[in-house]
Amino acid sequence: MPASELNAIINKIASAGVVGAGGGGFPTAFKLKTNTPIQTVIINGAECEPLLKVDQELMARCPAELLATLAVIVAATGAQTGVIALKEKYREAHAALAGEINNYPELKLHLLPDVYPMGDEHLLTYSVTGKTIPPGGLPLQAGAVVLNVETLYNIHQALEGQPVTHKYVTVTGAVRQPVTARVPVGTPVRELLALAGGPVVEDYLLIAGGPCMGKVTGINAPVTKTTKGIIVLPLDHPLATNYQRDLNRELKLALKVCCQCMQCTDFCPRNLLGHPLEPHRVMRAVTYGLADITLPQGLLCSECGLCDLYACPFNLSPRQVNRKIKAELQQKGFRPGPWAATTPSPFREGRQVPTKNLISRLGLKEYYARPVTFREGNITVNQVRLPLKQSAGAAPQPVVKVGDWVERGALLARTADDTLGASLHASISGTIMALNHDIVIQGGGD
Ligand code: SF4
Ligand code: SF4
Repeated sequence: MPASELNAIINKIASAGVVGAGGGGFPTAFKLKTNTPIQTVIINGAECEPLLKVDQELMARCPAELLATLAVIVAATGAQTGVIALKEKYREAHAALAGEINNYPELKLHLLPDVYPMGDEHLLTYSVTGKTIPPGGLPLQAGAVVLNVETLYNIHQALEGQPVTHKYVTVTGAVRQPVTARVPVGTPVRELLALAGGPVVEDYLLIAGGPCMGKVTGINAPVTKTTKGIIVLPLDHPLATNYQRDLNRELKLALKVCCQCMQCTDFCPRNLLGHPLEPHRVMRAVTYGLADITLPQGLLCSECGLCDLYACPFNLSPRQVNRKIKAELQQKGFRPGPWAATTPSPFREGRQVPTKNLISRLGLKEYYARPVTFREGNITVNQVRLPLKQSAGAAPQPVVKVGDWVERGALLARTADDTLGASLHASISGTIMALNHDIVIQGGGD
């Protein structure tokens, strides 16, 4: 396909404000705008975090749209193949995709084991291509581009001229009826709880994202283009306690309790890929002040949480320590590496953590076993609050003002050409009520 056609596709994706919908939030147009040859376009259908059901539902319900769009991206980028990688256990999604894929000789399905964290780009790329991405590197260094399933769906919409206005979200945990629904971006979390019949406990913690890598959120927080799930946890649930840890206490605990057993390193998925990340050494370095020797390792941490949620016998958190190190080093502009591609550990296969073991360890069996209803169609809400910045890069500049009436899909804010970021569109029709870091729209019968 000529370069002008790829550019036209990239422009449509950029105009629609498509970003990584799996949680990454990287502007998709920039991912595709590269001079590095792409051999494989990988669609991440691992749905890495337990309890979430968005990508499984999309693959089961929209196989034709997803495959046709993947074929367009493969042709436009000049890739040799497009691969949808999904867990073997997603039987409905697999059957739906398998029923259509023969129409596309350049596309294939890749079945993944049910282990955590299978959706990590490094692990996924290795599983699909057999090549490792250098530590701290990008899939492009292994000739691949990785897109989430819902991102691909949003590209499909973008190619039809539809901007990103809605988001699929799973609402689960301690709620009456777990549900996956398509809601306007900017919908408050309280509306999602109502969709799920409300919490079944009085005191609860709300997690945005999955149980392992989510973030604590509030009832008035808005759904963004990257919100994949809302999990309601009883406040006295062990996982809720985990989410409320204090880093200073963690460091004191690490000094007193860490016995350097190396379990965290033995199970670390990045270490098992051969990356020079050894969380037990990070713990030792931090507690004994050997910062300069070991800390840059912390930048290689994916924050998957296996070390603290699963491996450590004392429930210590190398992840939190790594997170703090990353924040400090990134603020100082420290760039790690470059490292060469690595060789995975021979123990890797045997040390992968089955999701069911993780679920059991996290005390989430009850929620994991419950069916999640899929709500057809779009959910309607009366008011939305859209944060201007919902992606990596700069926040877009508003092109509307308070008092303006906007139709659903109208442009609210745009990024300058070639500036990393993503445009923002009205997710409901209504009047702009406020405009600062967020844009509030009061709707009328959208
Ligand atoms: S698993 Fe826990 S105790 Fe063992 S080395 Fe890691 S942090 Fe220390
Ligand atoms: S969170 Fe822990 S297990 Fe996961 S990559 Fe970081 S150090 Fe390794």
